[in-house]
Amino acid sequence: MKVAQATTFRLAKASARMSFFAALLALSGAPLAFAQSSSLPPFESHAPPGLQGMADKMESEITAILQEARDWTGLPVDPRPFRLEWVSGRKELEGALGYKAPSWFAAVAELKKRRLVIATEVAGSQEQLRITLRHELMHLAMMDLGATAFRGTPSWFHEGCAEVFAGDIYLKGSSDSIFWMAAAETLPTLSEYRAGFPQSPVLASTGYALGHAFVERYLRLYGQPALREVLALLRAGEELDSALVQTTGLSIVTEEKALQEELRGLAGLGGDLYSRLFLGLAVFIFVAFPIVRATRRRRRADLESQWAESGKQGSPYSVSRRMGWPIRKFPPNERPGEDKNEPQL
Ligand SMILES: [Zn+2]
Repeated sequence: MKVAQATTFRLAKASARMSFFAALLALSGAPLAFAQSSSLPPFESHAPPGLQGMADKMESEITAILQEARDWTGLPVDPRPFRLEWVSGRKELEGALGYKAPSWFAAVAELKKRRLVIATEVAGSQEQLRITLRHELMHLAMMDLGATAFRGTPSWFHEGCAEVFAGDIYLKGSSDSIFWMAAAETLPTLSEYRAGFPQSPVLASTGYALGHAFVERYLRLYGQPALREVLALLRAGEELDSALVQTTGLSIVTEEKALQEELRGLAGLGGDLYSRLFLGLAVFIFVAFPIVRATRRRRRADLESQWAESGKQGSPYSVSRRMGWPIRKFPPNERPGEDKNEPQL
């Protein structure tokens, strides 16, 4: 077992950042509220002997990611420690969770137990492990909402925040692109992913892609301060829909419709690109084919005259039946390049 004090993380850098923000806040006359994020709670790391080295190595990185996640949410920090459990494979993950997890589960953040279980082998490469950690640590940072608000917030929104923070879409490529689904009007609604995600990776992947698209768009249009305001309202007991309306004046349904339009537009753009590419390719083949055919005819005529010529002299060339291409037969004592007067093919 290992206990990591999150407060030891990059003290010099953190204090420099804090004094910069303190100066800014003092200038703006705002209260010094950042003090909460500087006192992160400790976490307990549990790893089997084979993973202890890696768990130790990742400790400072985890502390850094969690600090970044908490800056991202802007929520006051829940001071209770959390538990991080490292396991190797699927069997160990299910053993730690106590239930059979879907095949695509690489890590699980549990609100009730305030713990994160991560399966290193399922997560994959070192880079993928980092992405998975960032994703899960955002779920953990969102626990600062408090149990009621955390549970009341739609799953797609939780996943969208985790994916945007991780910089990667979970299960991407498992289903059709949401752009094409939007164009074909077969896109499921966000409300279908409110209470949770289906076990099927195909259906789940659409939910992940949708959640990501919503949060990414929200941040692009309104910025991080607006998202922090939404999270603060959720923590204060508002529903997501009402928090969005209070922050930007637009409800989930309105934002979702605009998102669908945007996705359809992007699919149209992609479709247009493909049709131009196809047209270009067709024109190229149309123009290039007679040239290619003429070149092949000329070459064949040259070869035929060469064969006819060498046939008269008892030629060392024969034509491979399979390839239709002349194969040089060398006498056993002669190697290519030895006779400088030989024709080069
Ligand atoms: Zn997640």
